[in-house]
Amino acid sequence: MRVTTICNQKGGVAKTTTAWTMAAGIHKRGMRVLLIDVDPQTNLSYTAGADLLSDKPNLYNVFKGTPAREAIQTIRDGLDIIPGSILLAKADKEFTGITNYHVIKNIIKAVGGDYDHIIIDTPPTIGILTENALLASQSIIIPMKPNVYALQGMSQLHEFITELQQENKELSINGLLITLGDERTNVYKTIVPLIESTAESMGTKVFKSRIRKTTAIEEAAINQTDVLTDAPTATASMDYENFINEFLEG
Ligand code: ADP
Ligand code: MG
Repeated sequence: MRVTTICNQKGGVAKTTTAWTMAAGIHKRGMRVLLIDVDPQTNLSYTAGADLLSDKPNLYNVFKGTPAREAIQTIRDGLDIIPGSILLAKADKEFTGITNYHVIKNIIKAVGGDYDHIIIDTPPTIGILTENALLASQSIIIPMKPNVYALQGMSQLHEFITELQQENKELSINGLLITLGDERTNVYKTIVPLIESTAESMGTKVFKSRIRKTTAIEEAAINQTDVLTDAPTATASMDYENFINEFLEG
């Protein structure tokens, strides 16, 4: 069982898309996958088609003491999710004590044995929710959108990860993933080498597979499915398939 967190405190860099597409692709390869939506925006839960409207328990309830197993919803046979909740938006204020930093770790202790991969999507903030995810993980994937702001905040994120590695010795940065790229632009050509040197300074790599920008991604989200199922021949599907293979090999 391997636990992977997708994180970057910037919004709009394809964290949720990557978590969802990875989960779908790994599940397609015959493995059992659990998604955990740690983002109060609940984009992942929505896209995966989780039931957010009835009073089924979600991650917020688990923070409040509901057993993890009760919050699991099945999306496809062998692909499950613990949905997020808008109520997690006040997590930093509401859940202070030290035990609240290990809620996700305890989820994994309780149900992790049922899965081959657990993939956690995080909010665009560095706070208790992301910290929970990282304290429970072995791998981190950092999606990066190659624009002028891509590198801003990376040293802060690196520092945060380094601090958590003192407590979670298993945690390592698997790699930076270039997403939403348009390789024809000058910005792309300028920023990608800078992302590569940033990866090196963080002691990690840039995945060889890069995800190109294509409308098929948003179309799949509107259809509440994943791009690999919705448009297998779209460029982003091929890119994500390559990335998933690279991730599984590494
Ligand atoms: P984050 O979770 O980091 O905020 P999202 O996964 O929600 O980012 O992606 C931000 C937006 O970009 C979404 O509207 C998503 O559908 C879109 N998007 C993500 N990846 C791609 C891609 N490869 N091509 C086109 N649009 C994409
Ligand atoms: Mg998101």
